[in-house]
Amino acid sequence: ESFALQPLAMETIDALEVVASDADVNLSVRLPSAIPAVSADRERIRQVLTNLVENAVKYNESGGHVEIVARALPGGARVRVGVVDDGIGIPPEALPRLTERFFRVDKSRSRSQGGTGLGLAIVKHILEAHGTYLSVDSKPGYGSTFSFELDAAPEAELASGAGAVARAEAA
Ligand code: ATP
Ligand code: MG
Repeated sequence: ESFALQPLAMETIDALEVVASDADVNLSVRLPSAIPAVSADRERIRQVLTNLVENAVKYNESGGHVEIVARALPGGARVRVGVVDDGIGIPPEALPRLTERFFRVDKSRSRSQGGTGLGLAIVKHILEAHGTYLSVDSKPGYGSTFSFELDAAPEAELASGAGAVARAEAA
């Protein structure tokens, strides 16, 4: 399945708009207009983005920002997708354990905010099923970026089939 990232990213932040405005966190999407479509399971990638944006809002502070970003990697065969926040950040010693089931950095804060510690375990599982993995870059007090790579869709599939039809008729 190949799909454009921009509409999926917009749908993801729209679905979390109420959660974000309750927390006074701003959500945005910033993708280059020429970004290639990706080859992946759209609903599973929606689940990944939803979990990452939910976390970025939850582990943030009033007035915070969360942005979904993406760019084609050199050569254009792969796309890197990221969720960037300027929230509380993650101590370096916790990074290797983040995707463990039920692992939570701050037990008391986490308990008061709800959740089970399964979100990132699910994200890891979905990305592994796509042959890829989650990267985390974080600085306590400044924020975190969670990112992953996906395959770009083959060029012929780019314009949701319309381009392929036009070419077939011309041949
Ligand atoms: P659930 O997702 O099941 O509701 P959860 O959010 O606690 O619960 P995960 O999504 O797996 O569980 O995240 C694990 C832990 O990683 C969180 O409890 C939090 O401590 C930390 N964490 C995850 N994302 C961020 C982030 N963007 N900024 C700071 N800490 C984070
Ligand atoms: Mg979570």
